[in-house]
Parts: sequence; structure tokens; C-alpha cells
Amino acid sequence: MSLFAARMRDVKPSATFRYDAAAKKPGVINLTIGRPGFDTPVVIKEAAKRALDEGKVHYTPSKGIPELREAIAAKLERENNIKGIDADRIVVSGGGKQILYCILMALAGNGDVVAIPNPSWVSYEAQIRLAGAEVAWLKLNPEAGFIPDDEFLTALESSKAKLLILNSPANPTGAVFPERVIKAILEICEDNGIYVISDEVYEKLIYEGRHYSPASEYENVITVNAFSKTYSMTGWRLGYCACADRAVIDKIEIVHQQSLSCCTSFAQYGALASFTKDAEDAMARMIEELRARRDYVMERLNELDNIVCEKPGGAFYVFPYIRDVDDYELADRLLSRGVAVIPGSAFGTQGRGCIRISYGGADLNMLSQAFDRMAECM
Ligand code: PMP
Ligand code: GLU
Repeated sequence: MSLFAARMRDVKPSATFRYDAAAKKPGVINLTIGRPGFDTPVVIKEAAKRALDEGKVHYTPSKGIPELREAIAAKLERENNIKGIDADRIVVSGGGKQILYCILMALAGNGDVVAIPNPSWVSYEAQIRLAGAEVAWLKLNPEAGFIPDDEFLTALESSKAKLLILNSPANPTGAVFPERVIKAILEICEDNGIYVISDEVYEKLIYEGRHYSPASEYENVITVNAFSKTYSMTGWRLGYCACADRAVIDKIEIVHQQSLSCCTSFAQYGALASFTKDAEDAMARMIEELRARRDYVMERLNELDNIVCEKPGGAFYVFPYIRDVDDYELADRLLSRGVAVIPGSAFGTQGRGCIRISYGGADLNMLSQAFDRMAECM
């Protein structure tokens, strides 16, 4: 009899955390983990400190403090054009990752199929397997800039999926899916009874194109977002989901409540201050810096041979395909030269031959050194 639960058989450790840990050596430029390397805006930090001083150190309502959920509901209507969401239709959780886990535990189980893009963020596959469900991979192609094409739509239609996780701007590719593409996907989902989990954690990090939230026009959608990337709050562990269907939210809340109870009290008061002009201004400055980094990375990639890489419109990733390389071997070789990246295969079979470069945590100077080293070994 094995000590370990059967569900652990097919679940791997997170490649993003594993490669990040391996990169923490003197002299290594770390382009692995996806995080903005900026400080959290002062106004948010001050609000959290104030909450601590005021003794806001106890459990909060399980779904989150009402003020924060009200602010999120107003934001979803104002910025994302999502109507019909009130504070009761929101669950605030320990990061985008934990709310996704709660959603999958509540909606997916043995015998269910959950469709995800190939490639996609490492934790989707792991969480679907932890929930006991099957993964249906839907291929994206580098030549199409990893934007869903007809092949993707056909695969979705025949996937027998109950749920689809959609992620735009996307990890690991940085692709921003056009509104018409998202609508084509949603039409298929509606016709086939597929519920959509729209992971919008990179919604503000867009350099070209426009963000479109499918819940603005479609009912069968759970919108997921987090404070992590937008306000450089990855260590605060705060994310949320919203859904107009109260029954869906109630089930998600049960998983959240029975696993975490509620999120850290003073962190929630801090997050409330993200809905201020000061925080928005800090975010805008961060986005301009990220845009400059993205442009620089593309310029340096274009100097290298044998590379296919459409300019990504968002997030802080580029995902170049390099002809005739083994991406694991290339990532190891680059690490030995002092540049840490993540092999594309970690994100799905369509990532084979690619590497993911995260420029969120490296400034222009570090990127310049990294590309000098890469140019020598590629
Ligand atoms: N979704 C995507 C696509 C991500 O890349 C991440 C990684 N940060 C998350 C969700 C989870 O973010 P967090 O848990 O840090 O809020
Ligand atoms: N999402 C980020 C990444 O892809 C952070 C690490 C993680 O959550 O996997 O690197």
C-alpha cells in the first residue's frame, strides 16, 4: 500500500518554482519566475500597515472583507463591462492560483474533462489532475503567435470538455487574444455546454491590443483575477473570482472556506487601496517600464538566428521557438552561462523547442547582459 494518495501519481512539482530555485546562485541572471520585480505601491503598503495598527488581525468573512468585494464588483462593471456581479458573487482567495484550485475542486472531478491551451501555465494541468479530472490539450502554434486558430476551435468542439480555461494575455506566450477570437471560442462553449474560467491576471499588462472579458457578454463564465501582477503583490497572496451565478460561487466558497477560511486580514485592507489614483499611477509607470523591456527583448531576439517569435502584446513573457534545439538542454546550457530561463516543454508539448523568458524581474541592464551571454551560446 502506498503512503501517497493515488492523485499524486501524475502531479509534478511546479516548473516555475523549481527553475527559480535553481537560478538563485551568485552571478545568475534570473529570467525564470513570472513576477514584476517592482515594489508594491506605497499607498497599498501604508493601508496594510494601518490595518495592522488598528488591530485588524482577526478572521474576516470567508469571501473577503465586504469593502474589498464591493470595490472589485465596481471595478468589474467599470473596467470590464461585467454586469450582475455584487459583493456576494465574489470570493477573495490566496492568489489567483488558490482561487483556480477552489474552482477546479468545486467543478471538476473524476470523469470530467477540462480543456486548456497547449502551451499554458504549469499549474493548470497539475490542478486539474489534483481534482481527479482529465486534461484536453488544445494546440496553439508559434507561427500564429500562439493565438487560437481554426485547429484550436475544432479541437475544442470535439474535446468533450466540461470546462475550458482561457488565459489572455497568456502565460507563457504573452499573446493577447483578439476579441473576435475569444467570442468564437465562447460561441462554441455556449453551444456545447462548456463553462469557461477566464484567467485575466495579466489584463492590465497590455502593450498592443485591447483586453476583452468574456463575462461582459456571456453567462457561462467565471472571471479570475489577482492583485499579484497588476500591483506587484505576488507575495501578498490575493486573488479573486467572480461569477453571476450565485450557485457556482457558493460551491467555490465552500472549498475556499474549508481549506483557507479567509485571506490575511491586513493584506485585504492593503488591496483595497489598489483602487486609488496613486496605485493606478504606480501601475502605469510599471507598465511603461515593462513595455520598454519587451521592446528591448524583441530587438535582441531578432538579432539571433533560427528563431520564430511573434512580438507578444502582453504579460511579461516572450516564448521564442528555436529551430533544432532541445529546450531542456538549451535551458541547462544557458544556466551554465549564467542566464536562467524555463524550458518551453514545461508548459505543454507545443512548448517543445521554445524557452520562456520572463522580463518582469530583470531591468534593461540585466537584460542586456543576459542577451550578451545568450548570443554567445545560441
Ligand atoms: N494565472 C496565471 C496565468 C499565472 O501566470 C499565474 C502566476 N502568477 C497565476 C494565475 C497565479 O497568480 P497568483 O497566485 O500569484 O496570484
Ligand atoms: N505564474 C508565475 C509563473 O508562471 C509565477 C509562478 C507560478 O505561480 O507558477 O512563473
